[in-house]
Amino acid sequence: MNNRLYGNLIFELSHSGRRGYTLPKNEFGNYSLPAGSTRAEDAPLPECDEMTVVRHYTNHSENNFGVNNGFYPLGSCTMKYNPVINEDIAAHTSFSGLHPLQPVETVQGALELYYGLQKSLASLAGLSEFTLNPFAGAHGELTGLMIIRAYHEKHGDAKRTKVIVPDSAHGTNPASAAVCGLDVLEVKSTDKGLVDVDDLKALLEKEGENVAAMMMTNPNTLGLFEQQIPEIEKMVHACGGLMYYDGANLNPMLGASRPGDMGFDVMHINLHKTFSTPHGGGGPGSGPVGVRKGLEEFLPAPRVVKEGDKFRVDCDSNCNSIGAFFGNFAVIMRAYTYILTLGKENIKMVGPLATLNANYIKEELKDVYELPIDGLCKHEFVFDGLKDKSTGITTMDVAKRLLDYGYHAPTIYFPLLFHEAMMIEPTENESKETIDGFISILRKIAEEAKNEPETVKSAPHNTPIGRVDDVLAAKHPIVTYAQLVADNQ
Ligand SMILES: *Cc1c(COP(=O)(O)O)cnc(C)c1O
Repeated sequence: MNNRLYGNLIFELSHSGRRGYTLPKNEFGNYSLPAGSTRAEDAPLPECDEMTVVRHYTNHSENNFGVNNGFYPLGSCTMKYNPVINEDIAAHTSFSGLHPLQPVETVQGALELYYGLQKSLASLAGLSEFTLNPFAGAHGELTGLMIIRAYHEKHGDAKRTKVIVPDSAHGTNPASAAVCGLDVLEVKSTDKGLVDVDDLKALLEKEGENVAAMMMTNPNTLGLFEQQIPEIEKMVHACGGLMYYDGANLNPMLGASRPGDMGFDVMHINLHKTFSTPHGGGGPGSGPVGVRKGLEEFLPAPRVVKEGDKFRVDCDSNCNSIGAFFGNFAVIMRAYTYILTLGKENIKMVGPLATLNANYIKEELKDVYELPIDGLCKHEFVFDGLKDKSTGITTMDVAKRLLDYGYHAPTIYFPLLFHEAMMIEPTENESKETIDGFISILRKIAEEAKNEPETVKSAPHNTPIGRVDDVLAAKHPIVTYAQLVADNQ
């Protein structure tokens, strides 16, 4: 590894007195900070020449794998290509140089774009209004649930403290409900992978008057369209609960159908998934929340409103709002750029192409990988490990072996409905050649599992770090560099 030559930490490369930068000559005289505001000693900063710094960070960056390196079929995460024009726009000094508290007369252009995205999302979702405040999908869920709670409180219905969540849901759904102080009622899935309407019926008979909302993901985390939504929506509304749409999987729905038309009251969208802004390793994200007509007063302030041909930041009119700030402006700019670049017509191609790619991979591989739920999927699908269970090769082994061939692994062991889950989402971006390459490698690994299982079991062989001990890593995590050095001595 290059890191051996160039060091793991920039601090290890430091030499006292070495400089890569000199400050310009001071033309303004000296200013002394007040006593008590200065350091007693110099800060312990690394001292390096410029070339050392450049090599150090370049080598570290090459240990990373992103969509710009190769195929990244991480199910549920929609690892979509972030077009370069998004970066050009977001980095433009007209936007990157703004301050969030600048006088509104000086930021009319930025407000116009902000307003434009609020409106575009409302139109794509079939809802009334959107807030762009939340910083992630999970943050959007929390915001949405707080909106729902504020709605019930306004109607003197504060005893509604339960949220129905399907057992196939993303872990953030029950977590957001818990953070919001609500209790989770789990509803089962049928063996077709869809919400079990009979189970829901029984749940509502018992708990209906305590239900604040039902959260649904559509298509769900198995990549399946929830075909009973009209019936489910009627049942929940009849009990006085609201319908929440987890829109993290909106990609295959773009231009095909809209949550508002399906009867949902509140939803979030992951701009960093469906609308191409880059994400990974925990950020950056943006999870705008939309509401149907009648719920606008609960949206958090500030919001951007249009009056005549001028834009204003509205902090006051939402008297029932739950409060936040502008959100992740650079991510918002990228998403809006993406929407405008595609335009009304082309954006309708996103869903069908993502769906086509996923179904193609599924059909090409289902003779060697176990497909627990057959039939048409949307933008992603789940295999339950290798079909031939006699090899002893697990989903973990297959995922590790994929790294050797230069692919990012799919999402594994999620959703929890299958023991050897392997969740594949190609997105609409990939060429047929890339997808065929991935298919042939997964077939090759299935062959290796039969003929040379040890190679697969001990993978990865070509990465900077081989197979880590998951259990040890979970039980005794090494969270500081000092600890790592001490442990290796
Ligand atoms: C990604 C995802 C979320 C959470 O979004 P974050 O931005 O990661 O917080 C919620 N639900 C589903 C179905 C998801 O795929």
